[in-house]
Amino acid sequence: MSYRIDNFIDGETRESRSERFGAIFDPATGQPQGSVVLSTADECAEAIACAERAFADWSQTPPLVRARVLFRFKELMEQHRDELARLISREHGKVFSDAQGELTRGLEVVEFACGIPHLLKGEHSLNVGRGVDSYSLMQPVGVCAGITPFNFPAMVPLWMFPVALACGNSFILKPSEKDPSLALRMAELLKQAGLPDGVLNVINGDKEVVDVLLTDPRVAAVSFVGSTPIAEYIYTTASAHGKRVQALGGAKNHMLVMPDADLDQAVSALMGAAYGAAGERCMAISVALVVGDDTADALVARLAPLVEGLRVGPGLGSIPENEMGPLISREHLARVRGYVDQGVAEGAELVVDGRGLSHGEGYFIGGSLFDRVGPEMRIYREEIFGPVLAIVRAPDYETALRLINEHEYGNGTAIFTCDGDTARDFTTRVQVGMVGVNVPIPVPMAFHSFGGWKRSLFGPLNMHGPDGVRFYTKMKTVTARWPQSLRAGAEFAMPTMK
Ligand code: NAD
Repeated sequence: MSYRIDNFIDGETRESRSERFGAIFDPATGQPQGSVVLSTADECAEAIACAERAFADWSQTPPLVRARVLFRFKELMEQHRDELARLISREHGKVFSDAQGELTRGLEVVEFACGIPHLLKGEHSLNVGRGVDSYSLMQPVGVCAGITPFNFPAMVPLWMFPVALACGNSFILKPSEKDPSLALRMAELLKQAGLPDGVLNVINGDKEVVDVLLTDPRVAAVSFVGSTPIAEYIYTTASAHGKRVQALGGAKNHMLVMPDADLDQAVSALMGAAYGAAGERCMAISVALVVGDDTADALVARLAPLVEGLRVGPGLGSIPENEMGPLISREHLARVRGYVDQGVAEGAELVVDGRGLSHGEGYFIGGSLFDRVGPEMRIYREEIFGPVLAIVRAPDYETALRLINEHEYGNGTAIFTCDGDTARDFTTRVQVGMVGVNVPIPVPMAFHSFGGWKRSLFGPLNMHGPDGVRFYTKMKTVTARWPQSLRAGAEFAMPTMK
């Protein structure tokens, strides 16, 4: 049964006036299953006006009361957990247990945001001068916008709006047009949890509405997660229009395997991190950087049969559950296949070829494994965002570290070793934002902050955790002296505290 996704504005689903639509496909069958409205610039401006109106009261609502709405929202999300996970699988394609995991990681940010009364306490200094006190206020910034990618339709929006709302802002979410249902469903549940109308709005669409969010003077802050070229565009455009921006981009995450690593552990870690969610994770490992030919030979020998044996199929309804679902779209499937062709043409050794796998019209590809990939090859330099793992052989630790540090991306990385000194050197010197030691996908917990370095993040502040609270609040510092100390008379020199 085909369905249509509209907008959620001012506390209700609002039918769009736009005549443009995008098709929503079922990646497991390749068939269209619904459509999403591609809203007009005017409709986006209406959502902003509505968010601006709602901000006036919500920003004055005590943080404790705002937190209580989020507590109820978390309960509702948990009650609807399976329904939401099925929705993720149906539109994104990932397997059901992975969709459940995405929800858990997203809900951890809601749990963090529930602590907002504590997080907004600010700083206080008594007697910064005689009879003078100083304290900081963390005040909401206003209307915030979030633009999110297809690969985590629940978790990435949940990195943003719970913290923004808890801090007292109103929010406009522009989800990916490929899997937009989750955003609408979460907005409905937030309303049910008691969020006042207009505080969270969902506008569906493409560049036309994004450009309004980036340029409208009523929007104070923009959070973005997606590919690097768009992240850079979002950052430069919204910054030029006076907004604070955090724009997270693409990745090419290396796992460095030292000769002393526990190889069984490294192999299991690589299988999950490279092929889970069909490689469509910004923290997926796409390069295994192996020190020494003996280590590399042993690793490839163990990996190859496991990659060949991956259970690939629909994300829903298979017993036992598949390990890997389809890719998001026909175009993306063609792109990933093209990268495998490219790797062969560039001279890398294709140990496992996933191109032969198919399931009807679904967007499936099997896991692929390349050995002897060189740093000059496109399959090494560019983000593939599919189930393709490249083995790069390095003669020693220093060469391996230099390769990671010279790569354009710096989102996540991991080292597998049994030597504490090497691990310590690695965590200190590597030029990457999120680092694992014998942990392949080091996604920070909600009470820490998430973000990469280099061309994986534009802007100074990461998502959620302490940085999230900083991003969604303006700091105001008050210096106060009460009348008796004014008896000293006017001061004309630059004030210094005595
Ligand atoms: P994308 O950049 O194509 O789209 C992201 C969002 O931007 C979508 O909402 C889309 O509608 C919008 N958009 C696309 N083109 C636009 C344009 N020209 N102007 C304005 N808006 C535009 O990304 P995607 O394909 O949805 O997601 C995959 C990418 O996201 C990968 O590169 C992945 O690494 C990255 N990602 C990064 C992180 C991270 O934390 N760094 C997390 C998840 C995904």
